[in-house]
Amino acid sequence: MKFSWKTVLLWTLPALVVGFFLWQSVFSTAPASVGRNAASTRMTYGRFLEYLDASRVVSVDLYDGGRTAIVEAVDPELDNRLQRLRVDLPGNAPELLNRLRTSAVNFNIHPARNDGAIWGLLGNLVFPILLIGGLFLLFRRSGNLPGGPGQAMNFGKSRARFQMEAKTGVMFDDVAGIDEAKEELQEVVSFLKKPEKFTAVGARIPKGVLLVGPPGTGKTLLAKAIAGEAGVPFFSISGSEFVEMFVGVGASRVRDLFKKAKENAPCIVFIDEIDAVGRQRGAGIGGGNDEREQTLNQLLTEMDGFEGNTGVIIIAATNRPDVLDAALLRPGRFDRQVTVDAPDIKGRLEVLNVHARNKKLASEVSLSAIARRTPGFSGADLANLLNEAAILTARRRKEAITMAEIDDAVDRVVAGMEGTPLVDSKSKRLIAYHEVGHAIIGTLVKHHDPVQKVTLVPRGQARGLTWFMPSEDQSLISRSQILARITGALGGRAAEEVIFGDAEVTTGAGNDLQQVSNMARQMVTRFGMSDLGPMSLESQSGEVFLGRDWLTRSDYSEEIASRIDAQVRSIVEHCYDDARRIIRDNREVIDRLVDLLIEKETIDGEEFRQIVAEYTDIPEKEQYTPQL
Ligand code: ADP
Ligand code: ZN
Repeated sequence: MKFSWKTVLLWTLPALVVGFFLWQSVFSTAPASVGRNAASTRMTYGRFLEYLDASRVVSVDLYDGGRTAIVEAVDPELDNRLQRLRVDLPGNAPELLNRLRTSAVNFNIHPARNDGAIWGLLGNLVFPILLIGGLFLLFRRSGNLPGGPGQAMNFGKSRARFQMEAKTGVMFDDVAGIDEAKEELQEVVSFLKKPEKFTAVGARIPKGVLLVGPPGTGKTLLAKAIAGEAGVPFFSISGSEFVEMFVGVGASRVRDLFKKAKENAPCIVFIDEIDAVGRQRGAGIGGGNDEREQTLNQLLTEMDGFEGNTGVIIIAATNRPDVLDAALLRPGRFDRQVTVDAPDIKGRLEVLNVHARNKKLASEVSLSAIARRTPGFSGADLANLLNEAAILTARRRKEAITMAEIDDAVDRVVAGMEGTPLVDSKSKRLIAYHEVGHAIIGTLVKHHDPVQKVTLVPRGQARGLTWFMPSEDQSLISRSQILARITGALGGRAAEEVIFGDAEVTTGAGNDLQQVSNMARQMVTRFGMSDLGPMSLESQSGEVFLGRDWLTRSDYSEEIASRIDAQVRSIVEHCYDDARRIIRDNREVIDRLVDLLIEKETIDGEEFRQIVAEYTDIPEKEQYTPQL
C-alpha cells in the first residue's frame, strides 16, 4: 500500500470527528440525565425545607451526587394534589439526608449514571488515544518505528518507489525470439552465480548492462529472467519515478535503492526508462533539470561507489541510447549494450509458442501462419494478441481458440475496437469508394503489398479499412515500394475526387495524407531518393525533445529547405496523378466492387483479386509502375 498525506488525513480526520463527538456526548450527559424526568416547576431550597417540616413532601429523588432533587409534594391549597418540583440543592448537604432518613419521606438517590462515569474516563482518553494512534500509524509507516515497511513521510528516505521481488519466477525459457540478447546475458547469470570463477582469473565483473530496444520487446522480462535464472532478488524502478518536483528527492531515492540492493546482494537492479534520468546533462530547457542532474550524478556516484564484485548488477532499459549522457556509458558503468529488437518471423513464432503454452488452441490454428501475418509486432503485442483471442473465445462460448478469433484479435490489436457498421447512405458509399480506391491501387500497382481484405466495419477511429499483407522483410524497402505505398495511400482520396467531384472530397483522407507526406519527405531527406541526390538532410531523429538537439534542428540552408519542399511536392503530385488515372481507367470494376462491399461489408483479398482479374489483366499492372 502506498502511503501519502492523503492517507494520513483519511485516517486522522474521522478519528478527530469521532473523538470530538464522544467527548461532546460524555461531557454533556450530566444535565441531560436530570432533564429527562425533570419537573418544570422549581422550588427554592428554603421552601423545600419548609415543606419537609410541614410533612408535605412525599418523595425525594436525588440526582447529580445530591445537587439536584426532584421533589413530590402535596399542596393542601389545591386539594392535596401531587406536585413535582425541582430543587437545586446547595452542594451535598449531609444534614438533609439525615432529615430525610428520620422523616417518613420516601427518598431515592440516583447515582450519576455509572456508565456515564466510565464514558467520562474513556471520553477523556479516547480522543488522545485516537490522536496518538494516528501519530503512531504515521510514524510506523514512515519507518521511524520498527516494523514499518519503511515508506512515507520524510521525503528523502521515503517513498523509495522501487519494487523488490525475492523470486521473479521468470526463466530464459519464458523469453523468446531474442536469442542474441539472451546469449549475451547468459554470462551475467554466470557472474551472479559463480563470481569466484571470474574474479580468480582477474576478470572485472560488469556493473551495468544497457538493454536497448523499442517498448514491449521483452527488456523487463529479460532482466527478470536473469534474476530468475541466477536465483537472486530483483529490484526495479522506473527512471521517471526518480524525477520529482523537489530537488534532492530523486537523488535520495537512488541512494535508498542502492543501499537496499547492497544489503541484498547478489541481486539485479532494473532501471526502466533510464533516459528519463540519464539524459545528457546541461542541455535542458525548462524546469526540473537541477533535480534530474542531481539524480543522475547520484546514480553515477553509486555506480562508482561499489566494487565490481559486490554482486549488484544494474540493468537499464531505454529506447533512446542516443540521448543518454556519455558519462553513463563509460567503462565501469553501463559499458555493455545489448540490443533487443522486435522479433522476426522466427522469433514471433517462438514468442507465440511461449504464450500459447497456457492457452487452448483448436487444432486448425497455425502459429506460424499468425507469425507470418504479424510483421512488426513486438513480443508484448503478440502476448496481447493471444490474450485477446482467448477473451473473444470465452465470450463466444467456444471450447478452444480458432483462427476466427485470432483474426479478429489481430484486427483489434492493430486497429482498435470494432464499431457498428453504418447504415446504407451516401457517406457509406463514399467510404466504400475510398477503401476500394486504396485496394484497387494496391492490387494494380506492381510493388504494392497485396490486399488482405477490405472492410466497411469501423474500427478504432477508422470508418472503413483496407488491410494489406506486408512482406516479411520490412527493413529494406526499395524506392519503387515506397512510391507504390504513397500511390496506394492516395488511392482513397483519388477515388473520392474522381467519383464524387472536387467539392465532395472529405476529411476521411486526413490520416492517409499524413502518411503520404511522411513517406515523401523521408524519401527526400533521409533516403536520398530524390533529385537532391544521396544526402541525409535531417538529424537522425525527427522528434524534438527538450534536451540536447533542440538547437541543432536544421543542418541545411534555406535554399535546400525550399528544394526539399519542392521535391516532396513533386513526388506526391506524381503519385496522385497516377492514382487518379488508375481510378478513372477502372471505373467499371470499382463500381461493382463498391456494390459488393456495401452488400457484404467485407471482401477478402482473394475474392477482390479475382473480380479485378475479370476486368483487367493483373499481370499487366506493370504498366502502372509509378514513374518519376
Ligand atoms: P519492455 O520492457 O521491453 O517494454 P516487457 O518485458 O515489459 O517489455 O514485455 C511485456 C510483456 O510482453 C512481457 O511480460 C511478456 O508477456 C511479453 N513479451 C515481450 N517480449 C517477449 C519475448 N521476447 N518473449 C516472450 N514474451 C514477451
Ligand atoms: Zn484512406
